[in-house]
Order: sequence, then C-alpha cells, then structure tokens
Amino acid sequence: MAQCARDRTMSDPQWYSTGRDHVWLPYTQMKTARPPLPVASAEGVKLRLADGRELVDGISSWWATVHGYRHPHIEEAIRRQLETLPHVMLGGLAHEQAYTLARRLAGMLPGDLDHVFFSDSGSVAVEVAMKMAAQFWLNQGHRRVKFLCFRGGYHGDTFATMSVCDPDEGMHSLFRGALLEQVVVDLPRDAEGEAALGALIEQHRGELAGIVVEPLVQGAGGMVFHDPFTLQALRRLADEHELLLIFDEIFVGLGRLGDAMFACQIAGVQPDIVTLSKALTGGNLPLAATIASGRIYDAFLSDDPMHALMHGPTYMGNALGCAAANASLDLFESEPRLEQAQAIGRGLEQALEVLRGLPGVRDVRVRGAIGVIQLDRTAPADRLSAACIDRGVWLRPFRDILYTTPPLVTGEEDLARITSAMVEAVTEWSRETHV
Ligand SMILES: *Cc1c(COP(=O)(O)O)cnc(C)c1O
Repeated sequence: MAQCARDRTMSDPQWYSTGRDHVWLPYTQMKTARPPLPVASAEGVKLRLADGRELVDGISSWWATVHGYRHPHIEEAIRRQLETLPHVMLGGLAHEQAYTLARRLAGMLPGDLDHVFFSDSGSVAVEVAMKMAAQFWLNQGHRRVKFLCFRGGYHGDTFATMSVCDPDEGMHSLFRGALLEQVVVDLPRDAEGEAALGALIEQHRGELAGIVVEPLVQGAGGMVFHDPFTLQALRRLADEHELLLIFDEIFVGLGRLGDAMFACQIAGVQPDIVTLSKALTGGNLPLAATIASGRIYDAFLSDDPMHALMHGPTYMGNALGCAAANASLDLFESEPRLEQAQAIGRGLEQALEVLRGLPGVRDVRVRGAIGVIQLDRTAPADRLSAACIDRGVWLRPFRDILYTTPPLVTGEEDLARITSAMVEAVTEWSRETHV
C-alpha cells in the first residue's frame, strides 16, 4: 500500500504533488479517500491521464459532456466568442449569445415556457426557481413560501436547495435549524397516492408556493425512475390546489432520455418553471437557466420596482457559456443525438441484463442513456471504481448504485467497454461477498 502510494507520487506531475494539499474535493473524506486521478487531456469520450492511461468517461463528467470532449464545433464557437466578447454583465447590457440562446430555449420548450433567467450553476437555477415561485405569490399579496418536494429527490447543495432534497441525502438532520422546512413526501405512483397527496396538500393550504420535482428520473438521490403518471398527477394536484409546478430537468433535460429533448415532453406535462444546467453547454462551461411560463413572468410586471425578480448573479448569461450552449444546440439539430441516446439505451439494456438475479444485485434498470445497477448494500465505491479503472473506464459509484451516463456520442465499442467493466466489477464483487 505504502509502496503503491510512493510509486504514484514518483510518476505524478508536479502541479499535482504541490497542489494536492490545497484542493478541497467534493463529497470527499479528505483523510481516507483514494487520491483523485490527474487528467492531462480529454478528447471524444476519452480522458487521458497524466501517466498516459486512457479511460472511457462512463459518466460524462457528472452528466454534462453529452457531445464528448473537445467537439470541434463547440470549441470553435467558444474560440470565436473569446476573441470578440468573453463576458459582459447582463445588468443594463445585452449580448447576442444570451439573447439567441434564450430565444432558442423558449422555442424548444413546450407551451409558453418563454422567459429565461440565466445563472451559473444548477443549484442556483433551482434557487431562482424557488425564489420566482415564492415571489410570484408575494407579488399578488400571498405569503406562500414553502415547497412540496419528494423523498429521493436531489436539487443541489446550497441551503435552499438542500431543503428540497431527500431529507437523508440532503442532510436535513445534520443542518437542522439552518434549513427551511419543506413538506417532503413520497412520489405519488397511483390513484391512491394521488388522493393521499391531495389530502396532505389541503392540510398545508395557503402556505405552499409550489411543487419541485425531477421529472421521470431522480438522479443523485438514487437513480430512481417513475412513470409519466406521477407527473400528470402532480400537474392535476397543482392545478386543483393552485400550486406552481417546477420541473428540475438539470439531469434529464437536453437529450439524456432519448425520446425527446426534455422529460416534460415525454410525459406530456406542462410545468410552470423548468431548470436546466449540466449538459447545457455540452459540459464545457458553467451555465444554467430557469425558464418560466408567461403566467409567472406576467406576475412580475408592475409599476412597483419591488415586484421585479430579485436576483442577479455576476456571471449570469456569460457569453462564452452561452456561445457554447448555442453550439451545443446546433449539434442537437445537426447530429442524431436522440437516436444515439436511444441506441445507447438499447445497448445498456442488452449488456447489463446478465447481472439481473446475481447475488447482491437488487435491480438493473435502464431509461434513455442511463444504466443503473443497484446493489443490496452500500457499494465499496473505491473498489468498484478501481476495478473499472483497471478496465479502462471511469465511473463513480455512490451509495448502493453503480451507474453509467455515457456521452451521447459513445460508439458501440466504447459502450461495450463500459458495460463489460460494470459487469465484471459487479460479478467479482458478488462472488467475493455472496459465497
Ligand atoms: C446536479 C443537479 C443539480 C445541481 O446542479 P449544480 O450545478 O451541481 O449546482 C440540481 N438538480 C439536479 C436534478 C441535478 O442533477
């Protein structure tokens, strides 16, 4: 072990050895975690490590690099923008890329989801959605500032978004007293669930601003799927009880599900507010958007300056980010990304099926270009991850989940590499732990 660590240090680049003590990593126990892998470059679906090894990125850098790394069309758009206008504040000034992107997103989203507020991360996009919903009611003289949200949900790491995450995953008890109190329930999955939820909403009459949900797939909370019925039920309940319906499409939006660009289109449900981020720039620059319907937007139009939306991140609508996002949307138009996502889904279904029924494997499920293996206990994340790295694949298991969300441009051969790594790693683990 010590030998191993020393060998690593010898071959590590200098920036890595000298910077290591200074970078605080996400969700990482800095005392015990395996050190991260230094990456020198990336191209297509592959990461090249500093020691020369190549890994297929099976999770698209947290679900973002849908077109792979360094797509020439996006790279060219960013370079062109860099040479004309890398950034300018959106307060009082306007630029082409943000205005073009807003118009395009409004055109792509169903119905009158026409009004785009830009920010720079997914968490902030959800914060803005929550603020929009609360202020929508405040502007009309109602103090309705709480949200209905769901077990298994994940909406970000900031304080307001933690409050609408799953109570355990969102660390509600750890941060008790610091978090807003929301109404957290199970997703309604049938008529009975819908009726029960209706009764619960009635009990909170007058205090709820809206419902926040990840449509069709709850991602970071455990990769749990639900049917369009659930979203249709939420729409019915929202209408009946006058709540705003917020779809957090930060994970599933922009082609990941294959059947359409957005989950709301697949479910045939029109939300009042949608959030996007992750894949928005094709995984090249941080950018997020909160998109509201005409009814929401209109409630902010007033002669009272305090009725304006009270938000404005410094880097909102960053021109480089918007240029990358416009180029990413070009690629969705000019290349068959949705078909590719569907093909990946079929490949995942075929290849992962052998794990079903294996001792220790609780479930195998696929939706769009998302493949999930759920184990019967918390996965030994470092071990599974190392087993995949040995097979040339980058994956990052969490809790009881080993999953893949490959770039949508992943070809058959690279997909086979990902799925064989998953199958072999889990089979090995199963043999050792379930004798
Ligand atoms: C990742 C994610 C977020 C948070 O986005 P960040 O950019 O990490 O702040 C919010 N909602 C969903 C559904 C996500 O998957």
